[in-house]
Amino acid sequence: MNKNNIVIDYPENVRYIINKLANAGFDAYIVGGCVRDSIMRREIHDWDITTNALPDEVENCFKNFNLILSGKKHGTVAVVIEGQVYEITTFRCDGTYLDNRHPQKVEFTCALEEDLKRRDFTVNAMAYSEKKGLIDPFDGGKDIANGVIRCVGEPEKRFTEDALRIMRALRFSAVFGFKIDEATSDAILKLSGLLLNISVERIVTEFNQIICSQQPSTILDKYRSVFYRFIPELKPLYGFEQHNRHHDKDVWKHTLCALDIVECDLEERMAVLFHDICKPQTFYIDSYGVGHFTNHAVLGEATVAEILTRLKYPNKFIKTVRELVKYHESLRDIRPTNLIRIAQQIGLPNMDKLLEVNRSDILAQSDFMRDEKMRKYYEKKAIIEELKNNKSCITLKDMALNGKDIMDLGIENGILIGQILQTLLNEIIEKRLDNKKDDLIEFVKDNYTNPSVNAHSQ
Ligand code: ATP
Ligand code: MG
Repeated sequence: MNKNNIVIDYPENVRYIINKLANAGFDAYIVGGCVRDSIMRREIHDWDITTNALPDEVENCFKNFNLILSGKKHGTVAVVIEGQVYEITTFRCDGTYLDNRHPQKVEFTCALEEDLKRRDFTVNAMAYSEKKGLIDPFDGGKDIANGVIRCVGEPEKRFTEDALRIMRALRFSAVFGFKIDEATSDAILKLSGLLLNISVERIVTEFNQIICSQQPSTILDKYRSVFYRFIPELKPLYGFEQHNRHHDKDVWKHTLCALDIVECDLEERMAVLFHDICKPQTFYIDSYGVGHFTNHAVLGEATVAEILTRLKYPNKFIKTVRELVKYHESLRDIRPTNLIRIAQQIGLPNMDKLLEVNRSDILAQSDFMRDEKMRKYYEKKAIIEELKNNKSCITLKDMALNGKDIMDLGIENGILIGQILQTLLNEIIEKRLDNKKDDLIEFVKDNYTNPSVNAHSQ
């Protein structure tokens, strides 16, 4: 790639900001992720600008605009133009780092190259302006062309300064499908213990993107010792043989294989990552030498809840993932009544997710009975589709009769009402009753109201 040939077409507002700073006598460039993503022709979410103007000077230049000054002491003045936020940051060099994450103090510098030097990876350490072209002192353009993530400077030093860069390296590698340069990779594996000093929220932001990348297995496998730092529960899966003809891979390899197959939805991906988490602890071999994992799904639910709570995922997310893990083995019985029973627990929309987990699980197993398993999968899918299309009655809420209607028939408020509702629902699910108000009233009258008793009591 010839650096001189690179032309980046930035938006009009960015041009306006850069020109305004230039007219006031300052240098300004777009920098970091937006330069990288422009060269890679990826969608750009923020246009960050770097300049030799000091924060006060930037503020003065844009005094007629809406400004966000919360980052000013770190050198960032954000300008709001047409509802878009543009961060303008003064060239910085970072002082000594404390606690493997935060520089003790931030210093401003007049040299763009100093600012680029503090950035994490070569692909993120480029700046560009229409006037000056691409400024790429660490050959980030070449690393993009070759698909490489490489630290700017000495990897061990850079990861010790800020250990979050370990997760960022894995994330960029997973999301872009780039390899990690050998020295950078060695430093990651050597220093992953420093992640214990990083807040779990920051780790998880990167982890989610890794899990949702095209083929997460590559990074998860090669850097498993990094992931064990915050999810040690994954460790026993590695190399755990299953001794069962449904499986031709150990539990870890099976998990990774399913993870690459399941569609890219964070809840589904997370459920697949943890679906067999309790296999090692439930394993036994029968007298024929066949391995079994009785109850591993149900036990897995508690373990996944513990992991995701520790990693501070939102409660709703945890609830869905734990249900997917808990029921991932329950789809073997494909009768509609069984599927409806599960749908009552997890809701119809999550049945699609459960089916997708099921599909990836099947396809990551050996090919023993695979056709049969897939045929059943399609049958289940059709049943769920039909339930959705017919707006079927799955829960008490869907029923054409409620507790008040039953009381209106002269039945006293009490546990009997709940029992009657449950009976009606079962009758509907078993297709012995239609979900029609008149039919349901008729059924209640026939079975629960006694005309002689009523007459007597009047
Ligand atoms: P994306 O926005 O796609 O996540 P990005 O590279 O833009 O990726 P940001 O967190 O927006 O990431 O950071 C903007 C730029 O700031 C980066 O491109 C990089 O130059 C620099 N940077 C961000 N985090 C770090 C870090 N921990 N250490 C060093 N430089 C960093
Ligand atoms: Mg960014």
